[in-house]
Amino acid sequence: MNKVTVDDINFQGRKALLRVDFNVPLDSEQNITDDRRIVASLPTIKKILDDGGMVIACSHLGRPKGKHVAEMSLRPAAIRLWELLGKEVHFAEDCIGPEAANIVGKMKDGDCVLLENLRFHPEEEKNDPEFARKLASLADIYVNDAFGSAHRAHASTQGVTRYFDQSVAGYLMEKELRYLGQALAEPKRPFVAILGGAKISGKIDVITNLMNEVDVLIIGGGMVFTFSKAMGYPIGDSLLEEDKIDLAKEIIENVKGSRAKLVFPADVVVAAEISDTAETKVVDLDKIPDGMKGLDIGPASIKLFADSMAGARTVVWNGPMGVFESKPFAAGTFAVARMLADLTAKGAVTVVGGGDSASAVSKAGLDEKLTHISTGGGASLEFLEGRQLPGVVALTNAAGAGVS
Ligand code: AMP
Repeated sequence: MNKVTVDDINFQGRKALLRVDFNVPLDSEQNITDDRRIVASLPTIKKILDDGGMVIACSHLGRPKGKHVAEMSLRPAAIRLWELLGKEVHFAEDCIGPEAANIVGKMKDGDCVLLENLRFHPEEEKNDPEFARKLASLADIYVNDAFGSAHRAHASTQGVTRYFDQSVAGYLMEKELRYLGQALAEPKRPFVAILGGAKISGKIDVITNLMNEVDVLIIGGGMVFTFSKAMGYPIGDSLLEEDKIDLAKEIIENVKGSRAKLVFPADVVVAAEISDTAETKVVDLDKIPDGMKGLDIGPASIKLFADSMAGARTVVWNGPMGVFESKPFAAGTFAVARMLADLTAKGAVTVVGGGDSASAVSKAGLDEKLTHISTGGGASLEFLEGRQLPGVVALTNAAGAGVS
């Protein structure tokens, strides 16, 4: 699935509808508290503007549920983009209709406009064709740089592409497809996946898909205990998905006939409660005492996981190994982040699916030491499930060139 990218296009004199992810956190006074998503969009915006093209950027912010919610306006993002670009960014108070048409109509080559929150219109999430047509009518070409929204078939991620001759990937999108796509399509082996996080339920399809793709499948985090229960181990008060015990048994059986070797923690850090001052103990996985919760992997597990990953040439990681938000239970997750950094230094391709594992890598200060940290939690999970993302499928295919 090769896609045309912005590098294949000369934007001179053309208006590009650019779907970005400016879903940035705002404080109660509408100040942006983390502008990394805006910073990340700059290379694509600059490429279009430097070509002599015009950028009409659009995004969602929060969940306004189809209504105009002043606190979820993208105006602060327009101001920050202006500061970062060092050139004026015009803001349209609506993403379609006369307001948008008026501002876009006055654009000259090299101009940049940001449209108001797409989700102020319920038609965006409903992928309404008429809304998509109105949005598309503002521009000549479509660029998608919002990988994190590509798993949703919304008007701005999929519907609009019907009205453009060319729908192309921006640099961020290209990078996501290159690393996530290549890791799964042509992995250098050994290929290891590490899955963690709270629940099995959100990751069943990932496990099922990856067990036929990877050589080693390491499981950590809260979902371990439903597997433990399935194996007949005591789990104390650890996280349990009662209704997934049979499924966990099935997975353990199915893995036996798959490519992957399944690795569970050897020991766990337990405590009676989740708190920064909790008293902790390390016990074997099959010896969790009554009244205690398994909240992180223990030192023997860290060693076991490192040994299981030794020599890996591709590693994909999604989900923390414990309740890493709380200091007594963060060591396992940070240790895995360091293992990936070490493997990267030895030439392995290491990819982190967004969300919590990405923020753990950031907290550990290892962002730059890994091959790729995905910006899209949900989208990267769907990728790992082996699904086609509607926002990616909708992009124009390239013959020979582009990214897969
Ligand atoms: P997910 O969104 O499924 O990737 O889950 C992420 C959450 O899992 C984080 O907020 C962690 O605190 C939580 N988590 C990880 N390990 C455990 C555990 N052993 N018990 C309870 N929660 C956990």
